[in-house]
Formats: sequence, C-alpha cells, structure tokens
Amino acid sequence: MSKKKAQPAHISFLDSVSRNFDKAAVHSGLPKGLLSQIKVCNSVYQMRFPVKVGNEYQVIEAYRVQHSHHRLPTKGGIRYSQKVNQDEVMALASLMTYKCAIVDVPFGGAKGGVKISPRDYTTAQLQSITRRYTAELIRKNFIGPGIDVPAPDYGTGSREMGWILDTYMSFKGGEIDAAGCVTGKPVNQSGIRGRTEATGRGVYYSLREAVSYKDDMAKLGLTTGMEGKTIAIQGLGNVGYHTGVICQEEGGATIICVAEYEGAVYNENGIDIKALAKHRKKTGSILGFKGAEDMNQRKNVLEVKCDILIPAALENQIRLDNAKKIKAKIIAEAANGPITAGAEEILLKKGILIIPDMYCNAGGVTVSYFEWLKNLSHMRFGRMEKRFDQNTYGNLVGLVERMTGKTIGQKEKKLLTRGADEVDLVRSGLEETMVTAYDQIRMVMKRKKKVEDLRTAAFISALDKIGSDYLALGIFP
Ligand code: NAD
Repeated sequence: MSKKKAQPAHISFLDSVSRNFDKAAVHSGLPKGLLSQIKVCNSVYQMRFPVKVGNEYQVIEAYRVQHSHHRLPTKGGIRYSQKVNQDEVMALASLMTYKCAIVDVPFGGAKGGVKISPRDYTTAQLQSITRRYTAELIRKNFIGPGIDVPAPDYGTGSREMGWILDTYMSFKGGEIDAAGCVTGKPVNQSGIRGRTEATGRGVYYSLREAVSYKDDMAKLGLTTGMEGKTIAIQGLGNVGYHTGVICQEEGGATIICVAEYEGAVYNENGIDIKALAKHRKKTGSILGFKGAEDMNQRKNVLEVKCDILIPAALENQIRLDNAKKIKAKIIAEAANGPITAGAEEILLKKGILIIPDMYCNAGGVTVSYFEWLKNLSHMRFGRMEKRFDQNTYGNLVGLVERMTGKTIGQKEKKLLTRGADEVDLVRSGLEETMVTAYDQIRMVMKRKKKVEDLRTAAFISALDKIGSDYLALGIFP
C-alpha cells in the first residue's frame, strides 16, 4: 500500500506565492494563456561583481528581477541579506506586481537582492557595494525613472537610496528626471516626507480597516476599533518599529511582545516602543529592557496569546510545524510572505483573519509612487495650494466670526485655517489608498461566495486589474 507523502514543513517562498496565485486564478475568469503570462517573471538579471573588502576582493552575488512589464516603470525594493537567492527575489518581485495593482499604483513589479549581511561590512564597504550594484544595473538598462525604480527593503534604507541616486546621476548627467530613478531617498536628496514610516503607517491603516467591521470582529470574538487591542511584533526594523509606534500612539493599542534577532521581550501591560528602540540603540539589544521581561527564545513571539500578531521580519516564519501553536486572532503580514501556503490552510481553519502582505504592506510602494511623481513634477506637494487654502479658510472663519459676532480662539483658528503641507498630503493619499483597497478586496469576497480569505480576494482584485490591462493592449483577445 502506498503511503501518503507528508508535506515538508518548509516549502519555498516562491512555491507559496505560486500556490496562492493558482488558488485565486481559478476564480478570475481570465484565459489560461494570460494567467500564465501574468504569473511568470519577465526578466531575471543575475550578477556577480568584485568589491575590495580590506586587503582582499570579494565576489558579491546579486539580482534584479522584473516580474511584469504590463505597466512601466517596474518597481520594487532592494534587499541586503545573507539569505538572498534567485527564487526569493522572484517571489518578492511577483508580489510587487500584485501589490501595485491592489493599491492602483501604475507600475509593474520588480525586486532586487544583494547576498550580503550588512552587519559584516563597514559603511564605506556598503557604499562601494551599493554603487557597484547600481553601475551593473545601469550597464544592463535595469534602472531609470521610466524603466525600473528601486526602493528600500530589508537591510537597506534611505542612505543606500541616496548612494544609488548619486551613482545614477554621475552616469546619466543631464537627464532631467534622474531623481525618479529610485525612491525612499533622504528628504534633502529629492525624497518625500512621510516615506520612512509609510509601510508601517499603511500596516496601521490596514489593521484599522480590518477591525472596523462589526461582523468580522464578532466572528473573532473581538470588539471593533484598535483601542486596547493587544499586539505582538516580530522584527523592530523600519516596518516593525513604525507599525508599533503608530498602533500605539494613534490607535491606542497595547504592544505586549516584541522580538528581534537577539531575543524577545514581554509585558502584558504594554511596552513603550520608542523607549525600547532607544534601549536597543544604546545597548545593542532589546533584552534587559526595564519596561519588560526577557523571553526564552525570539520565536516565542509568534505563539504569544494576543489579538494581533504582526510578523515584520522575513518570509516563512509561520510554517506547518508551528501554525497550530499560533494564538493570535488576526495576523497582519507586515513582512512579505511570513506565512507559508500550507500553514495558511491551518490558520484559516482555526478562524484566524489574515491581512495579506500584498495589501497590508503596500504603504511603502504607495508613498514611493508619490515620491516618483514629485520627482517628475520637480515640485514639492502642497507648494502651489498651501497659502491659497490657508487664505480661503481664513476668510471663511472671518465671515463666520462677523456673522455670529463671536471670536474663535487663536489655537482653533490656526487648526481650522491650516493649509496642507507635503506630509499631510502624503498621509491623506496613503490613508485614502489603503481604505479604498480594503473596500475593493471585501467587495470581491462579497461577489465571490466561494472566496473566504482576504489573500485570495486580494489576488483576484489584482488579477482583474492586470488582466484588463493586458486585454486592453489586445495581446490576449
Ligand atoms: P529592516 O531590515 O529594517 O528590519 C527587519 C528587522 O527584522 C531587523 O531589525 C532584523 O534584525 C529583524 N529580524 C530578522 N529576523 C528576525 C527574527 N527571526 N526574529 C525577530 N526579528 C528578526 O527591514 P524592513 O524594511 O523593516 O523589512 C521587514 C519586512 O517588511 C521584509 O519582509 C520586507 O520585505 C517587508 N517590507 C518592507 C518595506 C519597506 O518599505 N521597508 C515595504 C514593504 C514590505
């Protein structure tokens, strides 16, 4: 008798994305050939280049993958991690295509990866690696404001984006839109206010939307609203930190557990995220923080009893071997691919609400889109209308005062007559984007009765839009 083959606890990230795609594709109504075209990665550039480290030369392995050219430029972050490999970058690039479609950002998906652990290099060495990687991209026409536009991801930030811009400018002197070749740049180097925290802020808006529906919360035994919800966060980097701070300060949530590379800390009454990050900066570790107790192992964060679990580190964290132990009622995928496809089936059976990565962490690419638009327009958002709005609101308030014979206090007047700054507009655009996209995903679930999870619904929403782009081109009649 043939034994049923057990599923491996660990399937590759790319396999998970592929399985999730197939699950949604059957509901999309798109022709088979078109689905195959959407699924594959269009261009994969694998490179090796030498960089001098100390007295030796090291050969660095790196990638840039453009998943879909149905809209241009392609867009996606650059990851620096020792775990980078071609499959991982392909999975991440694919997710970018669906992510952009879900939030109506008119780009194809892409992603870059450099196989290094940034901790092992000095700042000068990281700069050499980043500049050389950029030069390779320029050489093969894999970067440019109308071609492919990188951004930060795991292990990179605004500093690296600044180096990329500077390298691009030195090769492409005189190109008028050169600043749009990369996003997530420092504000004083053609960046945009609000980009650094954009992914975390988007995660917060996605959660705020998810917990605002009474029926959905009733199924989980939760009340609506973020106030008082208990949260556990894995990874206190760019995304985890800002998500935590905003959930705490704007949502009134209680962060009870945080894990980083070196371990995890717990306090059922809440952990002050800003203070914890300061402690880590000073001591090099989150452990030993006065406002919390240390936990045995960093992976314990995933199994803590809480309302919301936010994996904000890397992919494949919740797998067949630990899915049953998850006690959270909601999982917000701040990271890309933190749940394997097999684990997801177990979590859904347990009734856990999963807010999928391709929607949940789309705040970064949304604000990157705003930054790119700012670069192409060569003007800060709000510059033209701020004073005009301020004067108009001032006149209105003056009119009300004259008509009522009452005067409004200086503080209230300032608040009522304020014209929007760039950061206000960025936040407003991001909030609108995340709210609209969640509505669209929920509409899909209402329309397709057999679709019971947000990931499949998000995929279908993306496929509808990408499919109609291809059909409009007349490629798949
Ligand atoms: P980051 O490098 O700023 O931070 C990640 C943190 O996770 C690091 O501090 C690292 O030490 C920690 N970490 C790694 N493994 C861990 C583990 N097993 N347990 C606990 N902590 C661990 O990276 P980031 O930019 O915050 O990205 C995090 C995730 O969010 C990635 O999956 C990335 O693809 C995704 N993401 C990032 C952005 C962005 O704008 N930066 C946008 C969308 C998605």
